[in-house]
Amino acid sequence: MTTTALIDQAPPTDQAAARASLAGLGREALWERLASIGVPERQLRMRVSQLWGWIYVRGANSFDLMTDVAKDLRQTLAARFSLDRPEIVSEQVSVDGTRKWLLRLADGKDVETVYIPEEDRGTLCISSQVGCTLNCTFCHTGTQRLVRNLTASEIVGQIMLARDRIGDWPGAVPEDPTGLPSGARKITNVVLMGMGEPLYNFDNVRDACAIAADGAGLSISKRRITLSTSGIVPEIPRWGDEAGTMLAISLHAVRDELRDELVPINKKWPIRELLDACRAYPGLSNAKRITFEYVMLKGVNDSIADAKALVKLLAKIPAKINLIPFNPWPGAPYECSDWEQIEKFAEVVNRAGYASPVRSPRGRDIMAACGQLKSASLKQRTSERLGGAPA
Ligand code: SAH
Ligand code: SF4
Repeated sequence: MTTTALIDQAPPTDQAAARASLAGLGREALWERLASIGVPERQLRMRVSQLWGWIYVRGANSFDLMTDVAKDLRQTLAARFSLDRPEIVSEQVSVDGTRKWLLRLADGKDVETVYIPEEDRGTLCISSQVGCTLNCTFCHTGTQRLVRNLTASEIVGQIMLARDRIGDWPGAVPEDPTGLPSGARKITNVVLMGMGEPLYNFDNVRDACAIAADGAGLSISKRRITLSTSGIVPEIPRWGDEAGTMLAISLHAVRDELRDELVPINKKWPIRELLDACRAYPGLSNAKRITFEYVMLKGVNDSIADAKALVKLLAKIPAKINLIPFNPWPGAPYECSDWEQIEKFAEVVNRAGYASPVRSPRGRDIMAACGQLKSASLKQRTSERLGGAPA
């Protein structure tokens, strides 16, 4: 059964609205905030590390919990700041346990975050922008007009909010345990594959990844964070140097002529330049491979000749291949390849030595699958306008 719930949240009072949240901030920003309320210079280092632990290790949502922080400081903090996460407009749980949250940011813009649980791991798919300035022809997000970059704390806030909702803080109990992984940690991996082109919001995404990877905090190792890009070639080596997470490339075509059409940024940085940047990505080995994503579009890029060309193209790069069945959206100009064709295509890829290359679609019933992340917000807005329950 698919469940949709509007989360009851009281509208912020004027006082609460004036209190900026500390949840999602980096160490430097926390340092500045504490200094701004008069914490003495000599105490700042200790106070930052106390707050860091409460916010990112234990997931505290109230200053009252911070028992090792002096009471008067706790009161001052509570008067000036909050620990609020982004506001949840709706939460949907798919039959397969996938969860999708529609979030409203402080300026009223919406983004979506998706959690995909599996037996032994849980992957959180987060957004880096509201909408996307690029317009890949198979992607619904790209048709959204309004675009802005998310701040680092809005990006980190998505991880914190997901941890709240699935009870992934030490000692917390999940409200709804449907389909959650069996291990102690429910979110083991983070992928920047939600809305937006993360390399067009480089600094904020880099800062957010550093906060997420901090070993004294959220502790999601860089080996378990994957950034997916449509191919912003000049930023790839910089990302390798400054962030060094795992990398996924939205390839989707093996010839420039077709890729120009599907992923128009290819006209600026064609396949050869993109693959050169991949080859030079730091630290690549058989244990650290680049993932190449390939959406299966019926009669467009799914021939056996394409499959052979794909494995040839990637031959000298430590690579994984991820075939993504096309997820349809209203008015999309493509259809998903027939399952039989996907299997034949996968067989060629498999024979070339790539294991289990097909990504099974998750959360399609709640429009949470790759590339579907615009439609549900629109549905939501429509139902809100009509004053009814969300679709
Ligand atoms: N902008 C980045 C990350 C977000 S998209 C990028 O393009 O890589 C995440 C993945 O979903 C990309 O590989 C994207 O090409 C793919 N995708 C987009 N729309 C899709 C759709 N309708 N069906 C299947 N995959 C889609
Ligand atoms: Fe943007 Fe990625 Fe969608 Fe292309 S596939 S429009 S880069 S979100």
